[in-house]
Amino acid sequence: MEDLKGKTAIVTGASRGIGREIALQLAKRGADVAINYVSREDDANNVVKELEDLGVRALAFKADLSQMAAGRELIDQVQEQWGHIDILVNNAGITRDKAMKNLSDAEWTEVLDTNLGSCYATCSEVLPIMMEQKFGRIVNITSFVGQAGNFGQANYAASKGGIIAFTKTLALEVARYNITVNAIAPGFTETEMLAQVPENIREKIIARVPMGRFGRPEEIARAVVFIAAEGDYITGQQINVNGGVYM
Ligand code: NAP
Repeated sequence: MEDLKGKTAIVTGASRGIGREIALQLAKRGADVAINYVSREDDANNVVKELEDLGVRALAFKADLSQMAAGRELIDQVQEQWGHIDILVNNAGITRDKAMKNLSDAEWTEVLDTNLGSCYATCSEVLPIMMEQKFGRIVNITSFVGQAGNFGQANYAASKGGIIAFTKTLALEVARYNITVNAIAPGFTETEMLAQVPENIREKIIARVPMGRFGRPEEIARAVVFIAAEGDYITGQQINVNGGVYM
């Protein structure tokens, strides 16, 4: 099914993990995809190759999205190359886990800037483009932690809760331009982010998941692509893909 043929998409943080899967699934539906990464150039180039092998146009942009100017520049570069931006997936995210009593100001700021500040910067830059087009699909990747909280993740939870509130507000403001804004909230998903968690804690985490296993990146990506390709009347929503860990 090539129902996204002729559309362009940007996926931030798509050199690996969930972002990579989102990029590949958008390409399988026919979209041209620009990916972003911060350091893993080889991984990003491999994703570009995989995308091109699917018969679509692909670009990779190195940009540290903790800096707002870099997020704006990313949007400008894609617009310059392709002349329209139809789908924006704000996926780039980091953790710097520590209990509050040990958390530094820098760890707070880095996570808020990377996870939430990046959504603000890319959305603010892409909105005039999408308003002019009278079409846009924005999907922000949050986390169930933004709804439930999680020990050792005050910075991350605040950033992800912020994404949910930001998503709903933006959805209200731009609905009349045929721009939808939604958030997908994964549960614990098998990527390098989760691999940072020590094995004994991972076992405790699985015990909390009603479905008894971690999510797979492709399962998160499917929900993102559904929203982007078929969610014409879905806006301002947070959609949980979490194996039941938060209901
Ligand atoms: P991941 O495997 O750690 O990959 C992170 C991606 O973000 C990489 O492509 C990385 O680029 C990029 N990135 C990191 N810092 C960046 C920056 N400053 N500027 C631009 N790109 C940056 O993460 P993931 O597990 O796939 O997570 C993807 C999203 O899902 C995140 O928003 C995360 O919070 C959310 N999420 C994940 C889980 C989970 O359990 N995995 C659960 C809920 C929500 P490089 O490769 O260049 O470093």
